[in-house]
Amino acid sequence: MSEATPVENLTPDEAAAELARLAALIAEADAAYYQEDAPVLTDAEYDAARQRNLAIEARFPELKREDSPSDRVGAVAQDGFAKATHAAPMLSLDNAFSDEDVTEFAGRIRRFLGLDESEPLELTAEPKIDGLSLSLTYEKGKLKRAATRGNGLVGEDVTANALTLNDIPTKLAGKDWPDFIEIRGEVYMSHADFAALNAREDQAGRKTFANPRNAAAGSLRQLDTEITKSRPLNFFAYAWAAESAPFAETQSEAVAKFAEWGFQTNPLMATAATVDDLIATYRNIEQQRATLGYDIDGVVYKVNRLDWQQRLGFVSRAPRWAIAHKFPAEKATTTLEEIDIQVGRTGSLTPVARLAPVTVGGVVVSNATLHNEDEIERLGVKPGDTVEIQRAGDVIPQVLRVVQDGGGKVWHMPDTCPVCGSAAVREIDDKGEADVRRRCTG
Ligand SMILES: [Zn+2]
Repeated sequence: MSEATPVENLTPDEAAAELARLAALIAEADAAYYQEDAPVLTDAEYDAARQRNLAIEARFPELKREDSPSDRVGAVAQDGFAKATHAAPMLSLDNAFSDEDVTEFAGRIRRFLGLDESEPLELTAEPKIDGLSLSLTYEKGKLKRAATRGNGLVGEDVTANALTLNDIPTKLAGKDWPDFIEIRGEVYMSHADFAALNAREDQAGRKTFANPRNAAAGSLRQLDTEITKSRPLNFFAYAWAAESAPFAETQSEAVAKFAEWGFQTNPLMATAATVDDLIATYRNIEQQRATLGYDIDGVVYKVNRLDWQQRLGFVSRAPRWAIAHKFPAEKATTTLEEIDIQVGRTGSLTPVARLAPVTVGGVVVSNATLHNEDEIERLGVKPGDTVEIQRAGDVIPQVLRVVQDGGGKVWHMPDTCPVCGSAAVREIDDKGEADVRRRCTG
């Protein structure tokens, strides 16, 4: 059996072993994502692991594990922050990966509600922001608490840090808000702020962040509020829970209220009357993805009528009335022509892949990061090789793997600085471990 064995070909023994492997893999990925802000799987790999786990459970329901990842929505609260129990669980969304999945989603809703073809089913479509979910509790219009999602039931109390964000009102504007409400949304960092932050971190000799989402999570979940304050974080409001009184009849009306109350809401949110309209909105948002200035990883659809949302309710860990239509991972294959060295302002040497230009997700890419010499060794990449590259969440594309050996010579990191000719070394830390980066000694 291998990871590639189709689910329909698995024997029960193989399926049990595969469920155990996926449970461990997803738990490790969750821990890395939520607690260390350093992902071990790409988003596409993570989604694929969760999908495979679900597919195996669907075929072998009796083999579903006690610790099944499909019953968990995230990792446990990190030590250091007070625990915060959500007034209503923060669940995740089911995913759609194709237009057919979206058609099926709309069909399931129609059947559940007993709507015939002539009855319109209006849905909202909005970009799925690739950030960190946050729940804000307002009592009598005043911000009482901000909490991360955590495991969906209990998160971390990050109120002091949330107060440093300009996009989070401490007091709601207007006066038609319910006395009690949890406003939910996504904390994110723009591409420009992410690039500037990483430049500062690099200059200070600190570890840089892998992508804007990790930078946002690492910045919000700081025990030192001053650090959060120094980081440019944004927030889009898009959902709510536990309201003490109804305040809208539709999803779009509710989000329009959020804007009146002082929140930023996503300008690309739209409504669609048919599945075709929905898919057209998806394509439109996908086309704008590269120029938005922040990361999104799909489009979320929701039934617009709130009374229908109520009737549809929830199944397992997700609402029946919403789905996330994910973008395909943006990958492409091209020739790696040369490996150049960039020397940072602190003297750190970074290898950069010069590529034969190729279009990835609508953007022409001619450079990709190789991170450091350990990464080059791991990939076994040399000039002349055909490589697969990915632009997914990251601002700088990265080399994923060698597709075809170009027969070139093995590449080694230079031991002198290409700028000044001084020796370039990997410093050894107190624990006897070599720095991942080589630095100019000049
Ligand atoms: Zn130098």
